[in-house]
Amino acid sequence: MTDNAYQKCINPDCRTELECASVTGGFKCPKCGSLLDVRYNWDRIEIPRKLCEFAQRWAKKDDPLNFSGVWRFRNLLNFCDDKYKVTIGEGQTILQQNDAIGEYVDMRPGRLYLQYEGLNPSGSFKDNGMAGAFSHAKMVGAKSSACASTGNTSASVALYAHSCGLKCTVFIGSGRIAFGKLSQAMDYGAQTIQIQGDFDDCMRQVQDVCVRLGLYLLNSLNPFRLEGQKTIMYRIIEQLGWRVPDWIVVPGGNLGNSSAFGKAFGELKELGLIERIPRMAIINATGADTLNDLVNNKKLVWNGGRVEQAIIDDYYADLTARNFSPHTCASAIEISRPVNLKKCLRAIDICDGLVRAVTDEEICDAKAVIGSHGLGCEPASAATIAGLKNLRVEGVIAAGETVACVLTGHPLKDPTLTVNYHKEKQGQFSNPPIEAPNDLEEIIRLIQS
Ligand SMILES: *Cc1c(COP(=O)(O)O)cnc(C)c1O
Repeated sequence: MTDNAYQKCINPDCRTELECASVTGGFKCPKCGSLLDVRYNWDRIEIPRKLCEFAQRWAKKDDPLNFSGVWRFRNLLNFCDDKYKVTIGEGQTILQQNDAIGEYVDMRPGRLYLQYEGLNPSGSFKDNGMAGAFSHAKMVGAKSSACASTGNTSASVALYAHSCGLKCTVFIGSGRIAFGKLSQAMDYGAQTIQIQGDFDDCMRQVQDVCVRLGLYLLNSLNPFRLEGQKTIMYRIIEQLGWRVPDWIVVPGGNLGNSSAFGKAFGELKELGLIERIPRMAIINATGADTLNDLVNNKKLVWNGGRVEQAIIDDYYADLTARNFSPHTCASAIEISRPVNLKKCLRAIDICDGLVRAVTDEEICDAKAVIGSHGLGCEPASAATIAGLKNLRVEGVIAAGETVACVLTGHPLKDPTLTVNYHKEKQGQFSNPPIEAPNDLEEIIRLIQS
């Protein structure tokens, strides 16, 4: 089985290859410490001649692997036998065409699409990744798992771990997690460890803990997780009638999604399954804008894999010297040392991508617009619409181009922020409740005023 796929170091001066079953080094190259990719021997895998052939799986969706929005595309992430594949019904998402929100960002009718990943079992896109990663965990016989999380990873890990019989420990920064997400981790039975520190601190701790205790790591350093997240792009293409959009817009946190999307499009092009690759806009929050700063100000580029490490080292040394901790209301992207930085630079290269940062105010207003005209989302997801609005003003994206924004998480994830925005009249779209006395005539007067 391992003939179909293997792991490969992304550093072009190393190129170490490992079999899929290897978990040495906590998903970092054991030789040079770089990130690892899952690679495929495509000539040994049965690949449909056209993407639309995947539609045939819908006719047999009583098979859970066909029903899964991840494993329906299993030929394109064929790293383990079917007997190891884990699914709890992830990927039943909607690509909604939305003209009212299109008007807010000044797009022409029919051009703006919203990919609602909040409809996943745990309420965020992370479930796509966990379907991939937990299948790999089963394949290697893991018993216990762990992750660091701004919230959604812990919710998703907790749900998947117990559905396939693994123990799990989740690390969260104290006071940094939205209540919906914290409630999920506890409710799904995860051992929850609140560290005094931020996400970046948790991320450092969990990597060491996993190596010391032999726990299976579920952060997006795990390349098998990113394989599952590729399918978000397949489903956008599927719902556009097997056509690619002009632009993908995605929030940038630890940069797993943007990395996975770039890999997905690169592979589809290589396999001749798409003719052109869409452009990608990655949106940071201004209070956590490492990628934006490195790409736009420090001119950091992929450069065929020979990324200028000194630029990154200097940047992080400066963050440390200033005792910098990221701050944004969009807690899911409150990250200043994104682990997938280099893979993201590769994705920017593949997709002719760009990076922007938006303020918390822009995020909250966009979130309210998505709530009142769409199906709603959590703050980090709304960074996409805020970013798109600015890119329209800049003229980078044209009103007639087809744009798909990835709404990464469900609106109920962060009820505190939503209630404060409306009740405290924090923005131009606030919709506060009206205080009324317990009196019929007075209530009627207030409704009609
Ligand atoms: C994890 C998460 C993000 C950040 O995604 P990355 O792949 O880490 O860049 C954005 N939005 C939500 C809702 C998330 O849960």
